[in-house]
Amino acid sequence: MDYLPIFMQLRGEPAVVVGGGHVALRKVELLLRAGARVTVIAPKLHEELRSRVSRREINYLSLEFQPHHLDGIGVAIAATDSREVNAAVSTAARARRVPVNVVDDPELSTFIFPAIIDRSPVLVAVGSSGQSPVLARRVRQQIEALLPARLGALARFVGDKRKAVQKTLAPEQRRPFWERIIGGFVGSRVLAGDESDAHKAFDDELAASNRAADPSRPSVGEVYLIGAGPGDPDLLTLRAVQLLQQADVILYDRLISDAVLDRARRDAERVFVGKETGGDHHKTQQRIHDLLVQYAKRGLRVARLKGGDPFIFGRGGEEIEVLAAHGIPYVVVPGITAALGAAASACIPLTHRRLAQSVTFAAGHALDDETLDWRSLAQPHHTVVFYMGVAQLPRIVARLLAAGGSPNHPAALIERGSLAEQRVVRGSISTIVQIARDARIAPPALLIIGEVASLAKAENTGVARVASDDVKEADELLAIAHTAEQRAAAPSRASV
Ligand code: SAH
Repeated sequence: MDYLPIFMQLRGEPAVVVGGGHVALRKVELLLRAGARVTVIAPKLHEELRSRVSRREINYLSLEFQPHHLDGIGVAIAATDSREVNAAVSTAARARRVPVNVVDDPELSTFIFPAIIDRSPVLVAVGSSGQSPVLARRVRQQIEALLPARLGALARFVGDKRKAVQKTLAPEQRRPFWERIIGGFVGSRVLAGDESDAHKAFDDELAASNRAADPSRPSVGEVYLIGAGPGDPDLLTLRAVQLLQQADVILYDRLISDAVLDRARRDAERVFVGKETGGDHHKTQQRIHDLLVQYAKRGLRVARLKGGDPFIFGRGGEEIEVLAAHGIPYVVVPGITAALGAAASACIPLTHRRLAQSVTFAAGHALDDETLDWRSLAQPHHTVVFYMGVAQLPRIVARLLAAGGSPNHPAALIERGSLAEQRVVRGSISTIVQIARDARIAPPALLIIGEVASLAKAENTGVARVASDDVKEADELLAIAHTAEQRAAAPSRASV
């Protein structure tokens, strides 16, 4: 270890910064954040420093540096572009045993600045012993992504409660209690910005721990309903990664890629809850509800990972109803829904000033009900994204045509959007069925209809060859769709 990492108390301490440029400005700002009384010594001053002088936030000596300027000083920084002046500051500081930093010059310094993450009162400092500040900054960025923005609020919350815990719990009870508070529901409430819930839950926990005299005994756990995005792990939100690092159990289904699972805590239990081929949706969903409740009631933190966003065709609504009915706390973390992820990676702007003023996300698998307004979906200057539409592609197309959609209306299909295996094909309403067949497009894929689909960066260039069988089939479908349209328009709204 070339340096001892320490945190220096500077509140009210006199500090000197020699130099008046933008490098000096950055150091002055840091020293002020730490509460130091700063004097800047320089013949000329940066504009921002001048305005700080006029606001009386710092003192200013418009002079050449003299060694006696460091008499009685707590810390000194040299930030001039003259090595001579910087060396003079260093010598004068060392002679007076004043800690000194010469910017970008570890040899002349007795201490160096780390890259910092400031979630006060939590501070993280990263250093490379002066070898590579750029590398230290990168490490800082990586750590920063893992730290919730409201970490400081959590530290303050804990700080405020320490006395109460000391009074109520025996010393050996305190640590497991705090582990549970910080890593559990109370902590996640504070991090989510919901402190009033957190205060109440904290009081309940403290009272319960006191009664039980066994704070390591788990009370009810909680569930994180996490949107995992379209598959690329870099599209997870920071909060999703933070909670995945914390969860004891992870329930995931088919849409969750291995790369996303890799971001979860290594020793978490992983449970596959996807539909087995030929399985029944209702049974699968019932099993998920049962598992969520069982695990949470054992006091575990359960991450329910869902593809895309939990509230877009994700049955997230049903799951939170079940959790609420059992009194199990939950957190919902939004994710990038497939439409947004796939559109971005296929370069399809879902709205566009000239091409589309509105966008609809529609489910393409349940076409027999009459809840979709096909006429408005088939309108020009409107984008429709069909989820779960691959198997029903011919019917979707037929219904759009029957509702007045133009056969030339552009259409694109994006298979496994945002993943390395992504494929994009493009055509029009009248050609997309054949194009999809030729390319053997398979789920998960999204169908995007609308002028914007013509902007897709697609692999296919030619127009689809239309076989005569398919024409026949398409004609039949068209007839079915026409009938459906007529019925839908009738007051009874009968289904096909
Ligand atoms: N909650 C999810 C949607 C679940 S429905 C979300 O917000 O994205 C499942 C459908 O989502 C699939 O049939 C497919 O249409 C779409 N989908 C999910 N991931 C996809 C991906 N990577 N590429 C294309 N479509 C995807």
